[in-house]
Amino acid sequence: MRNYFYAYHGPKNKDNFDFKKGYGVSGEKTLKKVKVGDSVFIIQNLNKSFYELCGLYEIVKIQDTKVGKLRYRVELRDLSNLDDLIQLDEQGLSKLLPKTTGDKRRSNFQRHFCKQNYSFQRPLDNEVISILKSLLPKKNQLQEHLDDFDEQVKEALNSSKEAREERLRKSPKKPEKLTVTTTFFKRNPDVVAEALIRANGVCQGCNQPAPFIRRKDGTPYLEVHHKIKLANGGDDTVENTIALCPNCHREEHFG
Ligand SMILES: [Zn+2]
Ligand SMILES: [Zn+2]
Repeated sequence: MRNYFYAYHGPKNKDNFDFKKGYGVSGEKTLKKVKVGDSVFIIQNLNKSFYELCGLYEIVKIQDTKVGKLRYRVELRDLSNLDDLIQLDEQGLSKLLPKTTGDKRRSNFQRHFCKQNYSFQRPLDNEVISILKSLLPKKNQLQEHLDDFDEQVKEALNSSKEAREERLRKSPKKPEKLTVTTTFFKRNPDVVAEALIRANGVCQGCNQPAPFIRRKDGTPYLEVHHKIKLANGGDDTVENTIALCPNCHREEHFG
């Protein structure tokens, strides 16, 4: 089971939270509750009059760096890919969040989230998770399904053979259908053509010839990949593309 935590990036920090540096804590005990695959919402306040949601992250590694005050560290992968921090409406959220105990002079929001030493203390409950998730911009349904699906496959691999067989016996043979509306990028065919001409039938990942020839036109089969994803703001230009064999292309995305 994937747990969700929250961690605070408080006014002691000068800079915006940067997930690439991970999140450090002073005590080893804190990270005992956390495992790889868990998620964490980071909320920050840098001496401003408002709080900001920095994003939702997956914990990909837990380590003891042996140096510094914050030597116990989690490495993070960005799940939310926000373009900007999300400014939070403290009053509104105080009303929305389940009532919690704590210092009466603080708002309900602050009692939930605004203590450095609350970070990673206990998994968030479902109500709080869905409130925080609802603040993130809507991901497309398909991506959400695929992300959940990867997670479910991981869980299925980790469950016992008996449990898996039991589920397989009970499950319907025909899969459920999901209809989604998709927004996609209209790619420039000239960019693809130019990238293919430049590669001249050789994969630019492994430098091997294309694995096969297209039946319909006799051209070498390569796939044109964007080095910086279009979804991350990359350009649809020849400079931002390389032609790859299917293996190298998969490795680029999943390796
Ligand atoms: Zn290749
Ligand atoms: Zn690609």
